[in-house]
Amino acid sequence: MGKALIIGAGGVASVVVHKCCQNPDVFEEICIASRTKEKCDALKAKLDGGRTKIQTAQLDADNTDEVIALIRSFQPDVVINVALPYQDLSIMDACLATKVHYVDTANYEPPDTPKFEYKWQWAYREKFEQAGITALLGSGFDPGVTGVFCAYAQKHHFDEIHSIDILDANGGDHGYPFATNFNPEINIREITANGRYYEDGKWIETAPLSVKQTYDFDQIGPKNIYLLYHEELESLAVNIKGLKRIRFWMTFSDNYLNHLKVLENVGMTSIEPIKFEGQEIIPLHFLKAILPDPASLGPRTKGKTNIGCIIRGVKDGKEKTYYVYNVCDHQEAYAEVGSQAISYTTGVPAMIGAMLILQGVWKKPGVYNVEEFDPDPYMDALNKHGLPWQEELSPVMLDEVK
Ligand code: NDP
Repeated sequence: MGKALIIGAGGVASVVVHKCCQNPDVFEEICIASRTKEKCDALKAKLDGGRTKIQTAQLDADNTDEVIALIRSFQPDVVINVALPYQDLSIMDACLATKVHYVDTANYEPPDTPKFEYKWQWAYREKFEQAGITALLGSGFDPGVTGVFCAYAQKHHFDEIHSIDILDANGGDHGYPFATNFNPEINIREITANGRYYEDGKWIETAPLSVKQTYDFDQIGPKNIYLLYHEELESLAVNIKGLKRIRFWMTFSDNYLNHLKVLENVGMTSIEPIKFEGQEIIPLHFLKAILPDPASLGPRTKGKTNIGCIIRGVKDGKEKTYYVYNVCDHQEAYAEVGSQAISYTTGVPAMIGAMLILQGVWKKPGVYNVEEFDPDPYMDALNKHGLPWQEELSPVMLDEVK
């Protein structure tokens, strides 16, 4: 059916590559391109021999001209950007110049300001419409599947949705005293920022990790969850009509938070450059270099993730509640693709987004968040490609949890 250029060769990219190769009728040919070519070659070596043809390339995706040149030589039908959020705009510019569809899993963030927002990518709407190509933003798990869950609830369960709580629980244990499950820099930037949620048309800020509840998760058990700002809140607050409140919660162990507090207190999470032995370094970059590589956690991580949305609204004039979630097992994910569940739950949806574009099912010129498309084919694909979901019609609601 088509050709995909996969940019990045980290934890998420590895899952995308495995999943594309499991679907050779859709992904006939892929090119894995990243800053460090050896990582692309290692992935190719693992997966060569199937029906999907694999090429690799060295690429600095911050450089639009380099991306354009690679697109011109490989001629992909879609680019799957699973590098870092800093590369979103340079890759989107290259897609525009070459008229190739675009998929990513995280919204743009300027390297020097820890502030992720959709405004920069939404500004490309008209240009993508005029070029006749689709940009699918945030097709990971959260953002990604969580947006599709909301669109599915809207389509099949509610006349109007009033509140959404997105719950992201990781019951995994990798045995290290401290490590992050995906890119440490992106992870730490996300959780050391202020919390924020949307209520009655306003955004309400909270101090970092200051709002806490406990929730009893299916197949994981009770966990502390903390209110965070997360990027899908921005698009869902706009795209789910009638929404009065949306919040995002993530689990953190006391051990993880204690380590983080100390690192923060000693200045290791700062992105302000400092002089060190005659060199300029960014403390957070140094921390990333000494922490375990997220890709190395795969073989050690046991337990499950549970990510989903608890939704309240109205159907046929009556109050209704609904919970839709996925449970993913770290060890099963590792056995299948050689990565733990955090990368797995992001890489599978990235592949699904690209697949729906290649199949022409989710193809519409412009820039879209996942919840703006028909959720049904995506929900079917989740069941088929390794992320089956479950629903509950009378879930325990967060507000009731003391
Ligand atoms: P990793 O750090 O493991 O991998 C990032 C990859 O991108 C590396 O191979 C890196 O190369 C490459 N890269 C970085 N800069 C460039 C560049 N300028 N040009 C080319 N390649 C580059 O991250 P993950 O795989 O964990 O995450 C990938 C993306 O997925 C991130 O954007 C992250 O925010 C997103 N994500 C989304 C989630 C969701 O649910 N929506 C959840 C988890 C992650 P090198 O090897 O040389 O460093």
